[in-house]
Amino acid sequence: MQPYSPGKPIDEVQRELGLTEVIKLASNENPLGPPPKAVEAAKHAVESLHVYPDASAFRLREALANHVSLPMESILVGNGSDELIHILGEVFLGGPDDAVVVGSPSFVRYDAAAELANCRLVRVPLDAELRHDLDAMALAITPRTRLVFVANPNNPTGTIVDGDGIRRLVSKLAPGSALVLDEAYFEFAQDAPGYPNSRDLVAEGLPVIGLRTFSKTYGLAGIRLGYMMAPPEIIDACNRAREPFNTNAVAQAAALGALTDQEHLQATVANNRRQLERMTQAFTDLGLRCIPSYANFLLVDLGRPAEPVFHELLKKGVIVRSGHVLGLPTYLRISVGTEAETDRLIEAMNQIAPIGEPA
Ligand code: PMP
Repeated sequence: MQPYSPGKPIDEVQRELGLTEVIKLASNENPLGPPPKAVEAAKHAVESLHVYPDASAFRLREALANHVSLPMESILVGNGSDELIHILGEVFLGGPDDAVVVGSPSFVRYDAAAELANCRLVRVPLDAELRHDLDAMALAITPRTRLVFVANPNNPTGTIVDGDGIRRLVSKLAPGSALVLDEAYFEFAQDAPGYPNSRDLVAEGLPVIGLRTFSKTYGLAGIRLGYMMAPPEIIDACNRAREPFNTNAVAQAAALGALTDQEHLQATVANNRRQLERMTQAFTDLGLRCIPSYANFLLVDLGRPAEPVFHELLKKGVIVRSGHVLGLPTYLRISVGTEAETDRLIEAMNQIAPIGEPA
């Protein structure tokens, strides 16, 4: 198994390179910080740390059920969507007779779920525009396929697929199998034409599992809270498999607070749109190709190995993600920052001459 390679922490770069002013645009975090109402709720919850959390996360699941208009029996919360992916592996995958279909490159924890279960992992390359190739994925499905993972938007490409393709894929699944639609970046993409909402597919009773997270638009990556929307029998199976107290009391309270902070969410989405435009313009001016993004990061093709440019940016105190570790060695994946962070990034990229010239 490939170990998960997280973005470099700011203090590590400060220590190693002796820099003081370091910005991190590497982990698709919320540049505006956590929602103030979530912080307030978390502080309040700290007063009761001696008590076990609510194992059923009743209040949070109730609020989420209202938020997405699904019954509570269709909602499960987890220690980040990372944990929910892991639980799905435990529930659906039994060994070498089972198979998992994923796009490649996509989020690496899907591979981990398959590898931990010692089952077959079928990686289907993305299409020429770096979108999931849903027709090729449909062809890869066999009666042994238990889970199909589609990140929509995809990480690391930021691309989306439409609802028709998703429905075709679902129609190919054998009984007892499911499509996981990972919507970690949902709130950034939801207004795009043709963008499918996993909630609607679940409400129709299709074998679809929607995953969302509080780590991105809701600005709570540090507290670890994700949720699953699925048919009640899948939620029931996952409830049996999970640890009893898989989400902690502070996380449950903070997520409840975040759900009431629509102002922060709207500011996050608006900043994201603006900074994506600025980054795209600046990099296009440098002659670089940007993949149109529906998420809170931008994938940029340097047309040459990206690793040296990644290191040059590090020396300038700008942490991004090198495509080298993402299976895209000529690309950088750059998370959206604040207005000032985008200024720093563009300035640094402009200084790394002759970045725009062919290698
Ligand atoms: N799915 C995708 C597509 C992601 O990009 C991420 C974040 N890296 C996750 C899941 C995991 O998110 P969480 O913080 O909720 O575990």
